[in-house]
Amino acid sequence: MDKHTVPAVRQAVCDTARAMADSGLTAGTWGNVSGRVDDTFMVITPSGMDYHRLTPEQMVLVNMRTGEYEGGLKPSVEVPLHARLLLTRPEVGGIIHTHSPKALAVAAAHRGIPAVCDDQVQILGGSIRCAPYTMPGTREMADTVAQALEGRMGALIANHGAVAMGRTLSEALTAAVVLEKTAQVWIDAQALGGAVEISDEDCAFFHDFFLHKYGQK
Ligand SMILES: [Zn+2]
Repeated sequence: MDKHTVPAVRQAVCDTARAMADSGLTAGTWGNVSGRVDDTFMVITPSGMDYHRLTPEQMVLVNMRTGEYEGGLKPSVEVPLHARLLLTRPEVGGIIHTHSPKALAVAAAHRGIPAVCDDQVQILGGSIRCAPYTMPGTREMADTVAQALEGRMGALIANHGAVAMGRTLSEALTAAVVLEKTAQVWIDAQALGGAVEISDEDCAFFHDFFLHKYGQK
């Protein structure tokens, strides 16, 4: 492990957790954030702490392969989920798990969201699937959510919340905001007779555009 990258990842995880709380994506101490250090280690928010009192040093360094962690604070109970995703999705650098209200409304109905918004398909890769209800913190939840995220950067978890990922933590935060907004749009469009879906071909084109061509570089 490169010890020099750990402080920067701790800072980014702490900043993102505060931004998540500030943006109304989660209430109280719910939700959690992780950032990749390398292919074995991640940094994750500690369990049950007020996001506004967190310091970067309190973010927990965890070995994703063994579950062992450093320091006095326990990591989030969702370590199995974050570890599974970071170990199996090498392109992912940051993960945010929220209980955001509109996403949770759709997830409580055990529904997915079709591809209905342009920014949704660019950032999340297409339709948003809903993983079945499983006990939080279990390997079973890690398995089912990883499956729902295949080819996507966001998914719902039935009766529980949502997961958003990005190549960086900043991208993951954008994905979480876009996912919540998409759920709101999809619910609102029901009142107008339902949203019209974007084709699979356009989804693939726009997601590729976002990943490889969007921005200043
Ligand atoms: Zn949760």
